[in-house]
Amino acid sequence: MTEPRRTRRGPDGTRHSAPGRVDAGPGLLEPVDPSVFPDRAARRAIDGGARSARWTALLDQAGPILADGAMGTMLFLNGLQFGDPPEVWNLTQPEVIRRIHRGYLEAGSQILLTNTFGGNRLRLGLHRLESRVAELNQTAAILLRSEVETAGNQALVAGDIGPSGAIMAPVGTLDYEEAVDVFAEQAGALVDGGVDLIWIETMSDLTEIKAAIEGVRRVAPGIPLITTMTFDTRGRTMMGVTPEQAVEALRAWGSDAIGGNCGNGPDELVPVMSQMRGVAPDVLLVSKSNAGMPELVDMRAVYRASPETMALAAVEMQVAGARIVGGCCGSTPDHLRAMRAALVAGASVGA
Ligand SMILES: [Zn+2]
Repeated sequence: MTEPRRTRRGPDGTRHSAPGRVDAGPGLLEPVDPSVFPDRAARRAIDGGARSARWTALLDQAGPILADGAMGTMLFLNGLQFGDPPEVWNLTQPEVIRRIHRGYLEAGSQILLTNTFGGNRLRLGLHRLESRVAELNQTAAILLRSEVETAGNQALVAGDIGPSGAIMAPVGTLDYEEAVDVFAEQAGALVDGGVDLIWIETMSDLTEIKAAIEGVRRVAPGIPLITTMTFDTRGRTMMGVTPEQAVEALRAWGSDAIGGNCGNGPDELVPVMSQMRGVAPDVLLVSKSNAGMPELVDMRAVYRASPETMALAAVEMQVAGARIVGGCCGSTPDHLRAMRAALVAGASVGA
């Protein structure tokens, strides 16, 4: 922590994007320090591949891989009030959290995310819960793990990490080094709870997601890592990052799988997959689209895509290059079940 390292400043010293502005391209990335951002070979050298054995076994199976669907949507259906921190339900309503996970396991999901999207100390601090990071994240991992084991299932437990909730300096106030520390704290608790992998999602800022990756690597150098950003602003992230820039940077920082999640529905995410595939044919691509464009009804976001629509979209994602496919906001176990059926049918005819 005391020894300053060049890679800790962020992708480059001058990068600072406002919404809609063009971010620095991956060509401007600093050289990547493999001790901070180990690639697959470096990670095998650390632990002989032990940490990623379950992940490797999943990838070795042929065909598409189904992730899960929305957590927040299901929590609202179960009575969570707008503005309440969902992570508290890991402690107060563990049976509800387990039941939501069970729904996705029964729908055929092979990678499920813990209920920890906002489980970092900055977001929890908005509810004066900043001292509960370890407890909330660890409990979430244990809940999902026990549900998977009860099901006798081979599904993987992914520790979910969302954005910090703060804007990175110099536009905002969050210093890169502090961001690394915030994400390392959350990742450490998820790892203590026994997750198989970490899934960093819904990111808009390359500097922030780099800090999150560095934080994960600080506590778990060998763990598999999925990273997805949200391309909801005319084909870019809110901070101006293109799919091409994202996939090249995230690959350089050692992500095992890369893609998009959330946003305005599958019509937005299919071209993101194609663009990523175009510049990174070797990368394992991930798609987790919202169930259509969010509409505001009575101050709540409503998603109208049917299970049939999401099933068709899942096949489109697959054709565009995604191997790991799931749903984000608005998607329920019914959506995921339909998607699974369509993906399996597509795979068996060689789509
Ligand atoms: Zn979403």
